Amino acid sequence: MHFTNQEIHRLNRSMLEWYDRHHRILPWRSEPGDLPNPYHVWLSEIMLQQTTVQTVGPYFHAFLQRWPTVTDLARAELDDVLHGWQGLGYYARARNLHKCAKVVADDHNGVFPDTEEGLLKLPGIGPYTACAVAAIAFNRHASPVDGNIERVISRLFALETPLPDVKPEIKGKSSALTPSDRPGDYAQALMDLGATICTPRNPACGICPWQADCEGRKSGIAPDLPKKRKKAAKPTRVGYAFWIRREDDGRILVRRRPEKGLLGGLYEVPGSDWRDIEAPDDVMLSEAPITAKWSELEGTVGHTFTHFHLNVSVLATTLPADQADQMDGSWTTIDGLADFALPTVMKKIVRHALTYR
Ligand code: SF4
Repeated sequence: MHFTNQEIHRLNRSMLEWYDRHHRILPWRSEPGDLPNPYHVWLSEIMLQQTTVQTVGPYFHAFLQRWPTVTDLARAELDDVLHGWQGLGYYARARNLHKCAKVVADDHNGVFPDTEEGLLKLPGIGPYTACAVAAIAFNRHASPVDGNIERVISRLFALETPLPDVKPEIKGKSSALTPSDRPGDYAQALMDLGATICTPRNPACGICPWQADCEGRKSGIAPDLPKKRKKAAKPTRVGYAFWIRREDDGRILVRRRPEKGLLGGLYEVPGSDWRDIEAPDDVMLSEAPITAKWSELEGTVGHTFTHFHLNVSVLATTLPADQADQMDGSWTTIDGLADFALPTVMKKIVRHALTYR
């Protein structure tokens, strides 16, 4: 479906009128119709990536108090910026923030470029942020699409193609709707509508300025949009961990994993390969770092990685010192394990293995 120019004009007008009355008050915003400080808009957009409005508020205030202008931020020590960022996560953002402030201060006299193209050249500013800052700070005819806008547009047009395939269509439709009058306020209006009315589960269509035109509402499928492509089920892998204790002093063998690959460079309780299909015991045992008499501990250790679930059985043994000392790895006390960089799955294996007497 598509809207006539007249309908688009009506949609724009009703959305801006709604914004004038119901916009959220956010610390980095100006009043509708006024242009905000580009430094504030940029700082908030970087902080808001992967983070909620509620969390960002206090950080935004603290940054402005400490570094009132982009030039102040550029002159700050990186360590101070990272410290101020603590709790927001994704520290690459803070590093890029500092880098970007330096470029704006040194190469642009402390003034942000006022176009999408110019903003895109700055460190840490991707297509979405360039588009959002161009629209909000400079009132450029740009159409940023964040998660909220994605939801509103997919519902307005009843787009049933799942994410992420539907993204280009949403971008196209959103761009075609964007007015040349107050595009920045219009973008923020859609963000606010998505955050407060066109919410993920129960959109409050009865008080939405677009209810009369919304195809998703009319066909009753709005709450199910946007659809998401089903994720493939994660496979389950299995493997053995070998808990080896030195008889004389009760120390345990750990070793460093290869630099490359999963958990690269971290320490592990020695183990077999992790396989999709259970291999016969003799194959798994052949991957033990030594031939020994093993006791299988009751139960298994479960852990979920991004791409698979893992179930590990723990085999334990106690070796006399002369045999143990021929093995590669480090022998450590149980308390001493805290000094090794053990990933979570290995900590779970250790906890499980402590039942071995
Ligand atoms: Fe969202 Fe309902 Fe408004 Fe459509 S009518 S945009 S589904 S709140």
